[in-house]
Amino acid sequence: MLQDDIRRFIRYGKARFSLSEEDALFAQNAVLALLGQDALPDGPEPEVGADLGPDEAVRPLLEAALEGGTERERLPLLEAALFGCLLPRPSEVIRAFAETEAGEGIRAALDAFYRQCIDSNYIRMGDIRKNIEWTAPAPKADLVMTINLSKPEKDNKEIARQRSLPQSSYPKCMLCAENLGYAGRLNFPARQTLRFLPLTLGGERWYFQFSPYVYYPQHCIAFSAEHRPMKIDRSTLVKLLDFVDRIPHYFIGSNADLPIVGGSILSHEHFQGGGTEMPLQKTALRRPFAVVKGVRVGVADWYNSVVRVEGEAREAVLEAADAVQRAWRGYADPEVGVENSPAQPHNTVTPVACRRGKTYRLDLILRNNVTSPEFPDGVFHAHPEHHNIKKEGIGIIEAMGVFILPGRLQRQCRAVAGVLTGRPFDPEDPDLAPHRRMVEQLTARHGTALGQEEAEAVVRQFLDQTCLDILRNTAVFKEDEKGQAHFDRFLTAAFGPEKGENR
Ligand SMILES: [Zn+2]
Repeated sequence: MLQDDIRRFIRYGKARFSLSEEDALFAQNAVLALLGQDALPDGPEPEVGADLGPDEAVRPLLEAALEGGTERERLPLLEAALFGCLLPRPSEVIRAFAETEAGEGIRAALDAFYRQCIDSNYIRMGDIRKNIEWTAPAPKADLVMTINLSKPEKDNKEIARQRSLPQSSYPKCMLCAENLGYAGRLNFPARQTLRFLPLTLGGERWYFQFSPYVYYPQHCIAFSAEHRPMKIDRSTLVKLLDFVDRIPHYFIGSNADLPIVGGSILSHEHFQGGGTEMPLQKTALRRPFAVVKGVRVGVADWYNSVVRVEGEAREAVLEAADAVQRAWRGYADPEVGVENSPAQPHNTVTPVACRRGKTYRLDLILRNNVTSPEFPDGVFHAHPEHHNIKKEGIGIIEAMGVFILPGRLQRQCRAVAGVLTGRPFDPEDPDLAPHRRMVEQLTARHGTALGQEEAEAVVRQFLDQTCLDILRNTAVFKEDEKGQAHFDRFLTAAFGPEKGENR
């Protein structure tokens, strides 16, 4: 009975979002209106157990709407509108957050806010659990691998095209504050369940929200109240340090501000962070380089090129990191392929901040987006032989060792594994065609008589190795002796030779 389902949905809202009797009545009428119902007869108060998830709570209402003639494509919009009726207003969420923080601390306040985002299906945990996740063993720190079955992939050309489009729509982008409560369109997500918290970073108004995609635990986004392009400079580093002062148990970083090496949204200044330790952050220093005003500067023991700056004095950490960033912007080293000039700037950094007790750490991942005839998608981008696995830009998340792979790979890897167990290779098969080289390599090495499990493990190892290779493709200074000598040359340019000898 729809009426019982509506009562259960309202009861779910009362239980999960602590709605008062009055707010529950108010929500009930808003839900009735959305479902085109003009009455809710008296009925028994349904039981809502702790295990009732948002998908189960809302599903019967969506099924009824579908039967009632709502188009299937509109169901996600209706779902967000329904949960939006249950959620407290933005200012109440902000007030509740402040109260929990005052009483129990920032960690508890963030945990509760995260829970609320899951309970309202703003974070669609039911879908995210369908993602396939595993750990790729690797020599320096293991990588985290995810086949993403909940979001479509974009390629660099698509991102560049989106960047060049006139900014005329409303909201201007997916990160604008105007998304708060937005009803959505068929080509734009509904955001009635979005809630965000105010932040002050670098003296400016910013906001904190959780990412609806959750690529790792408590994946968050900080974004400027103003719609303006990504830009990495000293003020970015100040904002990152302000963030980790505000939320010391989170890391926070910014995508680079150039296409190819940046993230998918360059038009709105934002950061990504989270309540977890990323693979890069588990690494030690490969090599200390210098101590500048009590701040340790060195090279992180990672697969791409990371200058790590750490120390307890915030201002000194900021100065040293800014010196790296500025020096890199103006640096060129054609001998190792780092082409860069004021007329054609290709250099930028992906900066990431975190705290370790009293210590501030800034990791500056050196990036360069030059292209060449051999590498038209980017010299320091995933090389063409890896594009069957990943073609998208290597943004901050992957650069730190968490790989988000396109959903098509689930199907395609199954097809490749099939060949390894003896199914005939059909080059016309659209799932196998892009992976011809992979199939040839794997069958040459392992034959075509593997058991199912063995075949799947072999394919997975191939993905693991590919992602490690992609990370190494993005290294502007390679891990070999020549690359490291050139890395030292850059650090010497940034800090001066006398400090360079001080290792
Ligand atoms: Zn925007």
